Amino acid sequence: MKKEKVILTGDRPTGKLHIGHYVGSLKRRVELQNSGEFDKIFIMIADAQALTDNVDNPEKVRQNIIEVALDYLACGIDPAKTTIFIQSQIAELCELSFYYMNLVSVSRLQRNPTVKTEIQMRNFENNSIPVGFFTYPISQAADITAFKGTVVPVGEDQKPMLEQTNEIVRRFNHIYGETLIEPEILLPDNAACLRLPGLDGKAKMSKSLGNCIYLSETAEELQKKVKSMYTDPDHIRVEDPGKIEGNTVFTYLDAFCRPEHFERYLPEYANLDELKAHYQRGGLGDMKVKRFLGAIMEEELGPIRERRKELEKDIPAIYEMLRKGCETAREVAAETLSEVRSAMKINYFEDMSFIDEQAKRFQE
Ligand code: ATP
Ligand code: MG
Repeated sequence: MKKEKVILTGDRPTGKLHIGHYVGSLKRRVELQNSGEFDKIFIMIADAQALTDNVDNPEKVRQNIIEVALDYLACGIDPAKTTIFIQSQIAELCELSFYYMNLVSVSRLQRNPTVKTEIQMRNFENNSIPVGFFTYPISQAADITAFKGTVVPVGEDQKPMLEQTNEIVRRFNHIYGETLIEPEILLPDNAACLRLPGLDGKAKMSKSLGNCIYLSETAEELQKKVKSMYTDPDHIRVEDPGKIEGNTVFTYLDAFCRPEHFERYLPEYANLDELKAHYQRGGLGDMKVKRFLGAIMEEELGPIRERRKELEKDIPAIYEMLRKGCETAREVAAETLSEVRSAMKINYFEDMSFIDEQAKRFQE
């Protein structure tokens, strides 16, 4: 039988989606969806995972589910082609995680570099890390394998999660026989999109850090944020030579700028290399570069903002779409769980031969 091509990916409903999500994964998902190359596509709103580090703020998670769903649709995710569902509604995922927990050691989880940084960033009260948060890479393995995901389009921070998933798959299949499928990570081709930095240029753009440009930003707010962006602190006067490395404005240009943008907004330069060279030489002011970036961002985000406004007019319809998505997702996850249970031989009441064997054992 031909192996199915399945996409599984998702986002935490901890805020509206930002341009880091867009370039890191969302834009790619829309392209893959429209390529018609995939048999099934699932996008999960990871509310249960969001609760692992928002335990005191369930309302935030609840409120943001619809925000994330609106962002998906506004960017071009089409529910006719892609199943969008909410993680907590698929109880099968918890059961899978519970079995996978035995396949991973505590020290292996402690070595996960993304979890390590997130623990530092999140400043858990009294340094006490919730077990649920600590084990979320295992729950992610359950999410991916439940849907037999073969391709997972994500940003670079997810690499350790995919490695962990593949280890679990291999260990499971080794112990219980070929059951689960190893997924492949699909990272952005463009290096600037792997881990888009926040406006402050410090960490990765992240909802939890408040350093974001949101996809639904108003036109005014968008321009204000672009103007406030971190550049080269030593580039004080226009004639000073400037640095490109670590200069967030140029990183965003690397992520968003295409040759046609120069024709439209800065015809005196042929391409981004020329613009960078001028900045490095000196004589090019930050404001001019920021105005250029602002125009490009508006071109990209304007249509998304407009579509979102339209979608906001019928919120119940979006919840209905999510409800249907959850139903579809539950059926698929239940099928995998049943295969897992039978591989683990814990399907006692379905396996008559097992009961017969037991009966014989007691007759002997
Ligand atoms: P949180 O702060 O709550 O963890 P987040 O902003 O990190 O939120 P997630 O929901 O954790 O967002 O990530 C969803 C997806 O978006 C993942 O595939 C992740 O790799 C990708 N992603 C998130 N932030 C960025 C970024 N700054 N650059 C590239 N990809 C990103
Ligand atoms: Mg994150």
